[in-house]
Amino acid sequence: MTLLAKFAPLAELRAALAGSGRVPSIATPMDAVHSATEATIDGRRVLLAGTNNYLGLTFDADCRAAAIKAVETLGTGTTGSRMASGNYAGHRALEREFADAFGWPACIVFSTGYQANLGAISALAGQGDFLLVDADGHASIHDACRLSAATTIRFRHNDPENLARRLERLGEDAKRTLVVVESLYSVLGDRAPLKEFVEVTERYGAMLIVDEAHSFGMFGPKGLGICAELGLLDRVDFVLGTFSKSLGGVGGFCVSRHADFELLRLASRPYLFTASPPPAVIAATHAALKRLLAGDDLRATLWGHIHRFYDAVNRQGYRVGSKDPGPVTALVFNERDAAIGLWQGLLDAGIYTNLMVPPSTPAGLNIVRISLSAAHTEADISRMIEALGKLAAQLKPVAA
Ligand code: PMP
Repeated sequence: MTLLAKFAPLAELRAALAGSGRVPSIATPMDAVHSATEATIDGRRVLLAGTNNYLGLTFDADCRAAAIKAVETLGTGTTGSRMASGNYAGHRALEREFADAFGWPACIVFSTGYQANLGAISALAGQGDFLLVDADGHASIHDACRLSAATTIRFRHNDPENLARRLERLGEDAKRTLVVVESLYSVLGDRAPLKEFVEVTERYGAMLIVDEAHSFGMFGPKGLGICAELGLLDRVDFVLGTFSKSLGGVGGFCVSRHADFELLRLASRPYLFTASPPPAVIAATHAALKRLLAGDDLRATLWGHIHRFYDAVNRQGYRVGSKDPGPVTALVFNERDAAIGLWQGLLDAGIYTNLMVPPSTPAGLNIVRISLSAAHTEADISRMIEALGKLAAQLKPVAA
């Protein structure tokens, strides 16, 4: 048995997925990207309906101009961590802008959203502390727990009762516990019962961090997320977000209503021991955040698309992963071949979505994940609905 032999099952899975001649989603290269919603794949122009480009800001004129100017004036990279030579005025200014948007005293920017979870969670909960984590949390959350010296306990997905029972069992140790949830889950598009999670966390004196990677920008006043939408910002301890979705860049942030959160800069290894984000990324994110906070126009366009699309796929008989409409719509199948058939059919119609199959999906489901963007046009949404309608007829019974 060699080190590489253990990957044989993955090779088999890849071969099975490639049965149709194309390797779906996991490895499809884009030959060219033309806009927030169009690319060339396999020599064909396709409509992108599987990105996290929810507000379409990757091609925003101001964001691009800011990035270009930053490259020209500050260079391509910082070549150092924030603690060494990589701490530019722009990093600090962006942190202030995030903190001010939330009306909170503290914010730390990380080089990716993945590292934001690693950096915040592993430093907040250390030796002798406890992490209570939603079982369906993103890989970055579970990896953060592995990096942390705290004891990790998973609770049942979106189940505040289950969380309460586990906190009860911890007794006095509940007070040194960090509860970790997401607000909007990215695969099925389901929302967390945040009010209940806040109540349970407060009842036991624990702290709560909410990963708003897929909701920041789209929900709540000024797009600040679902915690803000539900009026929970004075009760949640930390909100985490990423630049790589609604903000159209790469990077992550964690804001807190506790000023002492700033001390993590001295203790968080994923913050300390990696290069800081390059100037172009910081400048583009600054422009994107300004755009996102400036008005509700992009959100209004996106929500118009979401309601239209969600109603249509439900009427077409698809089984949808979440009862709450949102930027992510998961079409769910028990059979892998049905999901592959739909994914392939959509690609043949020039529409690129995400195919997700076990073991990387919740509850062993096979999923075609479709995400919408404010940059989609009404005609784009009509095209998606029409293609799904035709395929629903061919794929019966789709709601297996
Ligand atoms: N948290 C969640 C919930 C995510 O879905 C993701 C990425 N898909 C991340 C964190 C990591 O963010 P990034 O890709 O920006 O590193």
